[in-house]
Amino acid sequence: MWLPCGCTSKYVASSFARRILASHLHVSGRSRCNVAAFMPEAAGFEGVSGRAALRELSVSSSESFWAAVARHRLSWSIPFHTVQDCDLSRGKIKWFEGGKLNVSVNCLDRHVHTCPERVALIWERDERGSEMKYTYRELLEMTCRVGNLLRRHGVKRGDCVTIYMPTCPLAVASMLACARIGAAHNVVFAGFSADALAERIRDAQSSTVITVNQGVRGGKVIELKKTVDRAVESCPTVKQVFVAMRTDNPVTMTARDIAMEEEMLKEDVVCEPAVMNSEDVLFLLYTSGSTGKPKGLVHTQAGYLLYAALTHRYVFSYHDGDVFGCVADIGWITGHSYVVYGPLANGATTVLFESTPIYPDPGRYWDMVERLKINQFYGAPTAIRLLLKYGDQWVNKYDRSTLKTLGSVGEPINTEAWEWYHRVVGDGRCPVVDTWWQTETGGICIAPRPSDPDAEIVPGMAMRPFFGIKPVLIDTEGELLTSNNTSGALCMAQPWPGMARTIHNNHQRFIETYFQPYPGYFFTGDGAYRSEEGYYQITGRLDDVINVSGHRIGTAEIEDVVNQCPAVAESAVIGYTHSIKGQGVYAFVVLKKGIDVQEADLSRQLNGMVSEKIAKYASPDFIQFAQRLPKTRSGKIMRRVLRKVVESDLEGLGDLSTLDDPAAVQEIIQGHEKLL
Ligand code: ATP
Ligand code: MG
Repeated sequence: MWLPCGCTSKYVASSFARRILASHLHVSGRSRCNVAAFMPEAAGFEGVSGRAALRELSVSSSESFWAAVARHRLSWSIPFHTVQDCDLSRGKIKWFEGGKLNVSVNCLDRHVHTCPERVALIWERDERGSEMKYTYRELLEMTCRVGNLLRRHGVKRGDCVTIYMPTCPLAVASMLACARIGAAHNVVFAGFSADALAERIRDAQSSTVITVNQGVRGGKVIELKKTVDRAVESCPTVKQVFVAMRTDNPVTMTARDIAMEEEMLKEDVVCEPAVMNSEDVLFLLYTSGSTGKPKGLVHTQAGYLLYAALTHRYVFSYHDGDVFGCVADIGWITGHSYVVYGPLANGATTVLFESTPIYPDPGRYWDMVERLKINQFYGAPTAIRLLLKYGDQWVNKYDRSTLKTLGSVGEPINTEAWEWYHRVVGDGRCPVVDTWWQTETGGICIAPRPSDPDAEIVPGMAMRPFFGIKPVLIDTEGELLTSNNTSGALCMAQPWPGMARTIHNNHQRFIETYFQPYPGYFFTGDGAYRSEEGYYQITGRLDDVINVSGHRIGTAEIEDVVNQCPAVAESAVIGYTHSIKGQGVYAFVVLKKGIDVQEADLSRQLNGMVSEKIAKYASPDFIQFAQRLPKTRSGKIMRRVLRKVVESDLEGLGDLSTLDDPAAVQEIIQGHEKLL
């Protein structure tokens, strides 16, 4: 069996040495630990003297911890009788059995009872300055109307509804309406092609699709309804398509199509919530497809919601009344957990960002922070790297004094981007939380906890496991690595409520992918380094670990050094077969805007930097300059495609359904041919 391992153990780039104490930064609620005040859910744990002790207890007495938190955080119609029934060696995961609840009641009704006029959603529409606010009462009414509409059109508990919409209030109401009536949702990112959409509709066996006439993104109109029309041609299960109007332009309606808003007006604003079992399906969601064919992961009701809510509150130091700005699209797990479910379960005001980071100019995010008075901002390294290219002036133009926490997710954040995010965007006073997690984990698993005043944050490190999370590192022989200052395959030794329960229609793939590589553990597919102090740093995907002349090295480590060159915007490093070294190093480099350099000079400089900061053997054999890199639609670099190009295996590029821009691959192929 192939037992992958992480890279060499010294992956802490020198610039990571600068540590930042959360107490040196703006951190609210900083009183010395009174556990009950910090985490009221844990008030019942007598004698726990601090946050570190509470974390220990959340792992050592995981059942009592999660039981206490679940009773406190969620509203149940019938309490659960069994906290967990899990067996990682068999891929069996069940939480809070016997319990009954409704997720939409937890996200809406209970807040409407206490604060109906609190703003639930701020829709930051593509058109700058035209944001719209929706209170909890309004969102509940909208959700109930959609719920009644779906019920009237025959959608039943257990059905799966595909939602193909941009990030907008009606999309959120549609997700919550499914939850209200007991249907599962399958949100498909509204940038996917007809084929990719069709595949996901078929896999989910949806008979109902919800969409809009047209989307608007970055000032461009996107013909979403036409894409749905093409997709459903090959989806015999689809009986009806609800079409909402995002723009004023009419679209051709067929016998299958239903005008959504018109029909919603006929519905009552009260919709009886279905009483759901904890383990009934809440949604399925496909992964980004960075490493292969996307997996349709299944999440269930209570455990997922609880985990999303708890991580939202404690990772970001969210406090009641804060405006939470996660700019992810609802089509990704980040959008599910930190735009919709986590914030709404906590009664937060959550921002729905419909645009792009550079529309109409690269100041868009920070203008939005100023206008909407955002307190927590959560984005992706790809956008941070992009904005860094445009310079500080786009940030400095705007007042960012409301910001308290900055978050990053999706890929390793390189040192330069981390520093810029912290120094320029956060004015050096906001903690940056580099959050590691996956579609599979449901919520954040490893991240700094700025709510802890004594917790230092090391730039570029995901740092600490969340409450109830027990990460372990395993070596190439399958042995548990117990010491610190070591690297290995990142696995989880204990189940937690937010984990996915299966891959839709393919439980065998679920078991083989996550539970068989290291029996008894959940295998993440990523590698990590654990520092002397016990902090975790994600070293990248294990597929991206290369072996050069017997030295194992994570490609992220080389990229991090290359990205530190002031001329470089971003880079991707891969390994290729080398007759002498085993594997050689091949780097793709994108330059910052307006940089005019001789490629040969820059290549020499980059090789020198890598030799100096890592080792001579890590210095790239080839450096290919490119205009852009192939990325998934969620903004992640598709290294597997680059590997195939370099191997000249153009037939074997694999599943490209989540590729953002096919032209980028063509450019890379041409550039590669020229280089050889
Ligand atoms: P697929 O599973 O289809 O290949 P994917 O893994 O990109 O796609 P996601 O679930 O969206 O799908 O992404 C999770 C992955 O993203 C993690 O396994 C990890 O490799 C990477 N990731 C997420 N957050 C971080 C982070 N903070 N630091 C480093 N890597 C991260
Ligand atoms: Mg993955």
